[in-house]
Amino acid sequence: MRRHLSVSAFEVQSPGGPFVEAGAGRRMLPFVTVALGAIAILAVTDLEDLAVFLFALVCAASLFTAAILIPWRRLPVAAQDVPVLAFFVVIAQLRDAGGGGASGVGPMVLLPVCWIAMYGRRSALVAALVATGAVFVVPWALIGGSGYPASEPRRGAVLMLVAGLVGLAVQSLVRTLEDQRVVAALAARQVARSAEQLAAVAHVRHTMLVKEDPREALCQGAMDLTGAQMGMLLEPAQGGGIRVTASVGADLLHVTVPMDPARSAAVECLLTGRRLFIPDAGIDRRIPVPLREQTNAASLLYEPVVRRGQVVAVLLVGWAATVELGDDTAAAISLMAMEASVALEQAELLRSVHDLARTDQLTGGPNRRAFDEMLPEVLNDASSTSPVCVALLDLDHFKKYNDAHGHPGGDRLLQQATKAWTRQLKGTDVLARYGGEEFVVVLRNCLIENAVVVLDKLRDATPYDQTVSIGIAQWDGNESQQALIQRADEALYRAKSAGRNRLYCAA
Ligand code: GH3
Ligand code: MG
Ligand code: MG
Repeated sequence: MRRHLSVSAFEVQSPGGPFVEAGAGRRMLPFVTVALGAIAILAVTDLEDLAVFLFALVCAASLFTAAILIPWRRLPVAAQDVPVLAFFVVIAQLRDAGGGGASGVGPMVLLPVCWIAMYGRRSALVAALVATGAVFVVPWALIGGSGYPASEPRRGAVLMLVAGLVGLAVQSLVRTLEDQRVVAALAARQVARSAEQLAAVAHVRHTMLVKEDPREALCQGAMDLTGAQMGMLLEPAQGGGIRVTASVGADLLHVTVPMDPARSAAVECLLTGRRLFIPDAGIDRRIPVPLREQTNAASLLYEPVVRRGQVVAVLLVGWAATVELGDDTAAAISLMAMEASVALEQAELLRSVHDLARTDQLTGGPNRRAFDEMLPEVLNDASSTSPVCVALLDLDHFKKYNDAHGHPGGDRLLQQATKAWTRQLKGTDVLARYGGEEFVVVLRNCLIENAVVVLDKLRDATPYDQTVSIGIAQWDGNESQQALIQRADEALYRAKSAGRNRLYCAA
């Protein structure tokens, strides 16, 4: 998704003039029709001078043709007023052809006045009003006689006043409508952008539901919303500094920056909680070298991710070309930062629910659910050269111990046994509480001979002079998880039957 960085009123206005913009024919048609109608009325009634009339007709036709054929786009917009103002000359000719003041076609001056009021500029309207007066005054002054009697200037003045009122009223009405059209177009654009933003947020939400870690989706969403080419999330690192926890469009994942606001804009954003826009990243000292070299970003925007008044992360987007920070970009990034705040908290909650569901509350180690999920993965990774052993451990006479020391005493034994046994294991081995006083140990890359040695050490390490019985089975490379545990369980049963406090291997 690519988006504009700012909405400009110019994008929705359409300069061009009345003869250029779409619908010129539809605009002209009523004016041409009325003009032809007036000409026709004159022709069939009191036409006094045919030659002048025909000349006026040719002039009118030329003006209409010019309005259609001249490449107005290449000329200044003001040029489109010329044929309209020239129409006053045609009106003067028509009046002359009809006998001057008595022709009755004088009010035709309202045609060009109305046209300019609707489609022209204020200065053109003033010129049209002057031309209106001139249509009456000039023939009276130059020709006079019975055709243009002394009442002509009066008529001209009255028509100028009427035309002025009508023209100004229409022009201001048209301007109001045009302003409303621009506002409506901007609002429509804004609605469309909001819909785009909602779609991007919905996309991020969806991705977050599918993926366990929302961080990359957040970066991508921020990039989509702002049209940026790079997105990153930075979070405070455990050992100090600020660390890149997601990086899209730049290879900077896990890079850590020292907590020095003078050398890192991300740190400054984290500490101040304020948005930081760097239009020219090339000359800013707060941009660390790896970021500069890796991304070549021209402009960078750092947005704090705030949760309950505390800045928990910084969302960073970068553009390859220099940009200005428009209102919509600012709105988009803060929307995504809010989304990030919720998403990160949700991810943390999910992780803690996930961990809780797989942790044994009493011993703090993995529980049976964790073991059941882990074993298929271990068996999947195992090969003939990396055998896997599973051992089941069951504390001996634990019921009696409980009876003798009370339930809390029994709990303590379970906890201490877990600690003591864990100390005997390697990092790759896993001890899980299988249930009650039974435990399971998974030994990766371990043959059964070695497993026996390890588990004997566990047996010896059992605290409070208690004993444990153990059954071990080595995975045969084929059998199911259940079959493997079944064999270990059978070995454990035999160990118990043989007198407890011993370790048996499965057949
Ligand atoms: P065996 O040697 O045959 O294994 O005998 P046992 O007494 O250890 O086995 P049994 O299955 O008869 O008794 C297990 C006891 O473990 C019964 C139960 O009350 C106790 N137990 C199970 N879970 C817990 C726990 O979380 N805390 C405590 N204190 N006791 C528990
Ligand atoms: Mg038991
Ligand atoms: Mg027992």
